Amino acid sequence: MVNTHDAFMNVRPMPLQPRTAKDPAARPVPASPAASAQAGNVVEIEDVCIDYSVGPGRRQKIRAVENVSISVRRGEKLVILGPSGCGKSTLLMALGGFLPISSGSIKVNGASVSKPSMERIMVFQDFQQLLPWFSVLENVKWGVRKRWPKLDPQEADRIARRQVELVGLSRQADQYPNTLSGGQKQRCAIARSFAAAPEILLMDEPFGALDAINRERMQQELNNIWSQQEVPTTIAFVTHDVNEAVFLGHRVMVMTSGPGRVRAVVDNPAVDRSSEDPDAANLAMHLRELLKEEA
Ligand code: ADP
Repeated sequence: MVNTHDAFMNVRPMPLQPRTAKDPAARPVPASPAASAQAGNVVEIEDVCIDYSVGPGRRQKIRAVENVSISVRRGEKLVILGPSGCGKSTLLMALGGFLPISSGSIKVNGASVSKPSMERIMVFQDFQQLLPWFSVLENVKWGVRKRWPKLDPQEADRIARRQVELVGLSRQADQYPNTLSGGQKQRCAIARSFAAAPEILLMDEPFGALDAINRERMQQELNNIWSQQEVPTTIAFVTHDVNEAVFLGHRVMVMTSGPGRVRAVVDNPAVDRSSEDPDAANLAMHLRELLKEEA
């Protein structure tokens, strides 16, 4: 079983500095998907197949993902949408370096992915992703220190406090995970991930275990947090929920099942708009049709 700690722990320390808008080395990132395309792709997934080995002696192969090709543009939120069992999580885990691919290639900034790295941090649905012996602020700061071990402690504190504030947990900054609600734990996990400024943030149905009201609230907050980063974070977000896909994704990649393939990749002009917005409603209808064709 993989958890978010692996994304922080199974990695070599990276002597990088945080990217900020003031940092001359930072690459300015346009916020719109079209402009992001000009800024280049962070991820290149080419013709990827992923098999699981099962049965006696693990000699039998089950194909979970077949011939998937997709690029993720710098600074965009790409949503991977599809029915349960179509290979979304498998693809995301492979992108995170947690699962080997059977053929094809996955590259992040031109380098092949072969193991977990702080450049690719995962957030899961599970509420138990935080370190229980650390407070909210310490959990977030821990992520910053893992990413930049040599960073000045005051700067680490500044970065962590800003992200804690952005997710609305300033009042809970000194509380321990066991005193937080499920939504607050997810907020803290998200703050920790953004604080570590990964090249790509991998989110596997992170709001799937929340009630409907909290889920909508978290979707709005994710868009807000994303838009307030000094350098926009690139996100790959897995969901089976059409409305969530339309609200969050600059683009939506629709997957088919048995084995998982790319059905379509759709641009979303209605990102961050209410589901009643005509463009959002049209796109949701279109996505439902695409998913129905596969059923
Ligand atoms: P999704 O995220 O879209 O629900 P998954 O990536 O979890 O789909 O699963 C894709 C397929 O791979 C499913 O048929 C599932 O049963 C299978 N699968 C997932 N994990 C394993 C595993 N550890 N061993 C064998 N088969 C698996």
